[in-house]
Amino acid sequence: MSVRRAVFIALFTTGAAAMIYEIVLLRELAIVLGATETAAGIILSTFMAGLAIGSKAFGGYSERVEDPTGLFIRMELAIAACAFYLLPIARMLPQVHDWTVELFIAVMALLPPTILMGGELPVAGRLLAQEDRRRGEEERTGEYIGYAYSADTLGGIVGAAATGLVLIPYLGAIKTMLLGAMLNVLSGAVLAVRRTLPRGEVPVMAALPLAILLIVGLQAMDITSIELQLVNRIYEYRVIYTEQTVYQRIDIINHTDFGKSLFLNGQLQMTVEDEPMYHENLIHPAMVAHPLPRRVLIIGGGDGGALREVLKHGPEEVTLVELDERVVSVARDLLPEVNQGAFDDPRVTLEFNDGRYVLKSAVEAGRTWDVIICDLSDPTTGPVAMLYTREFYQLVKSALDDGGVFITQATSPYWYPDAYASITRTLADSFTVVHPMVTWVPTFGMWGYVVASNGPDPATMSTEEIISRLRERDITTTHYTARAHARLFILPGSVETALANPKVPVSTDDNPFVLYAMQEEDD
Ligand code: SAM
Repeated sequence: MSVRRAVFIALFTTGAAAMIYEIVLLRELAIVLGATETAAGIILSTFMAGLAIGSKAFGGYSERVEDPTGLFIRMELAIAACAFYLLPIARMLPQVHDWTVELFIAVMALLPPTILMGGELPVAGRLLAQEDRRRGEEERTGEYIGYAYSADTLGGIVGAAATGLVLIPYLGAIKTMLLGAMLNVLSGAVLAVRRTLPRGEVPVMAALPLAILLIVGLQAMDITSIELQLVNRIYEYRVIYTEQTVYQRIDIINHTDFGKSLFLNGQLQMTVEDEPMYHENLIHPAMVAHPLPRRVLIIGGGDGGALREVLKHGPEEVTLVELDERVVSVARDLLPEVNQGAFDDPRVTLEFNDGRYVLKSAVEAGRTWDVIICDLSDPTTGPVAMLYTREFYQLVKSALDDGGVFITQATSPYWYPDAYASITRTLADSFTVVHPMVTWVPTFGMWGYVVASNGPDPATMSTEEIISRLRERDITTTHYTARAHARLFILPGSVETALANPKVPVSTDDNPFVLYAMQEEDD
């Protein structure tokens, strides 16, 4: 194999590895820092800054070293070593609890490997120039440097496509990072082998089966215990389950006081002990307000707690649209006390899809429901914030039957007063009957919902009316009662003040204020 070919292969391989790191880290850091343009902008500019610093620094240095091949190999090994600390650092960031410090650590962690990556092309250029000189073909150096750049970029294209489409979905983030490290080692190895076996074609022939072997080996590797250990550091309590799905990280911990607790992307969703307080107050005020809730749609709610409460009202059919199939299957296996077999009820249809997409298709098809419930994650990331906007609520309104009722969880008015106010204001833009509601959940603190309707007004129902509906439907609850119903609409003074803030705008697809308000409070 010629020196040139070895350099091009090494650059192709390392280019693919670089994109693997970039995509895995962008995804991991988006989970921690929020999938915002700010976080993406900072991460990408750190990558670019590292590349620029590396090119400058290694450009000069490579001219002075005697052995550029040795330097290139050492750089590849160093990048591979960085791959081992990047993911643990990204996963430990939630412990920091300060967005600015998290960002600083992320930037500092990213710089060493990106500086090394920036140095690869100048060092490879030096190697090519040396070879051209040896062959007396100095005039062709520009041409070969162009090929080198193409090989690196081509590797990047293949790496980026493979990471997004195949590697992360099938191998998960940890194994994909390990594969990146192996590619860097392979890149160094191509040059190392070429140095000892100048004419051997064996390494090229060996590279393909080796790569296949690596992927098969990675796939077979059981890394559950490594993942558990990484995640265990984040929580104070024992982690009993962890999984990185295509959409989010699911963790279940065992809390000494609150029992099994579900976290998505490090954010508490529910605990076995106090979830009835959250779910009963989300479901019954809306369901009881409807005289005959036959068809019900739940968007989100993959733990099954909301579904369990809805079924108590004797609907004819319930559709649960959950983005992440894994949440439902993990909840089915590990949180049976929450869903109590609700997923297997014959009246229930599970649909694994984006709630907004399903709603839009339903509106186009003229499908409607008596009650629609949003039991979604908080709007801390762009995609989920799209289910808290005016355009989304317009779809909800169109998908509700005459006299239909809608309710959504609306995050904590204590921690996120502006986000809560924006959800209320956004719904008021589409519905005439809109009521913010507040309750207390031990693990959440003060918690908010907003109910809206095309007809019935849950806030003006008499206690007697509610008692008779609960009796008719034979409903038993632990926390929600007909008398407690009225209390949900009595807001603390601080919440009234938050709702009156004239600066809080309606959230739209174009300007999802609710997302910015959540992120600002988290800083
Ligand atoms: N009780 C919760 C809380 O405190 O925020 C909400 C619980 S529930 C588990 C939230 C669910 O919404 C998650 O399982 C998540 O996968 C789902 N989800 C997020 N975005 C969604 C979307 N676009 N469509 C449907 N479901 C979605």
